[in-house]
Amino acid sequence: MDAELKRIAEWLAASDSCVVFTGAGVSTESGIPDFRSPGGVWSRRKPILFDEYCRDPEAQLEYWRQRAETHVQFADAQPNKAHLAFAHWEDQGRIRGVVTQNIDGLHQLAGSRNVLELHGTARKVGCLDCGTLYDAGEMLDRFELTQTVPSCTRCGGLTKHATISFGQALPVEVLRDSMRWAREAELFLAIGSSLVVTPAADLPVLAKESGARLVIINREPTPLDNLADLVVRCAIGNCMETVDSLLAACSEPHVDSEAS
Ligand code: NAD
Ligand code: ZN
Repeated sequence: MDAELKRIAEWLAASDSCVVFTGAGVSTESGIPDFRSPGGVWSRRKPILFDEYCRDPEAQLEYWRQRAETHVQFADAQPNKAHLAFAHWEDQGRIRGVVTQNIDGLHQLAGSRNVLELHGTARKVGCLDCGTLYDAGEMLDRFELTQTVPSCTRCGGLTKHATISFGQALPVEVLRDSMRWAREAELFLAIGSSLVVTPAADLPVLAKESGARLVIINREPTPLDNLADLVVRCAIGNCMETVDSLLAACSEPHVDSEAS
């Protein structure tokens, strides 16, 4: 294990363009359950499809009840050692930024600035008609007070969390930028993702096909393990902290990488 982490630190130190790609496994140590582990969200709740949400008032209510439950986890969660390490690497110019499937906003809370949120954010609620964004906590307060789905105060339209539901298209620009980062990466670290949700899980493949070294860090096997240059099975927080300290012993950090 130590040798593998040392290798990651050396590759990070040597690379001019590294991208960190994260999934729900990066946030479990912050107390937010992932989707597919036992006890994860799907073992308890039925997901509501986007179409269903748009046409069925009952589905809308069920959605808001679910969000009220999960918001408590998000609202109290703090970034863990992994989030902090990624923010540190970005500050040092070692990584270009983070492409995340997570909707919890913890990368930004840790200090990461260049974050591409493929599946949106649960910290905002958006109007499906006019696009106005609201603070999710305030909208959930309205829901809990009235037990009705809060409508847009600007146009009266239907609102929904600014996350991508099943059956809803990914934000085109975010996906395009993520694909560009993947194509341009020399080193692509896929961390805490089961790598089964597409198109997000296509990014490591794109990076590898475009010449990047691919590292997969996850507790369980993933379908892309065979493609990777290195697979590390570990608890993410401690491992990323170790890589961070090993990095200090490697070469001087790069200072010229910027988001674009
Ligand atoms: P996933 O649940 O499919 O996979 C998470 C992986 O992380 C699992 O393979 C698990 O073994 C591993 N893992 C969990 N904790 C770990 C730890 N401490 N150390 C090492 N490995 C660990 O999640 P995914 O691949 O991100 O894809 C599913 C979808 O889940 C995404 O669309 C995302 O939007 C959504 N989601 C996000 C959050 C969040 O924002 N925190 C939470 C749940 C689900
Ligand atoms: Zn509106």
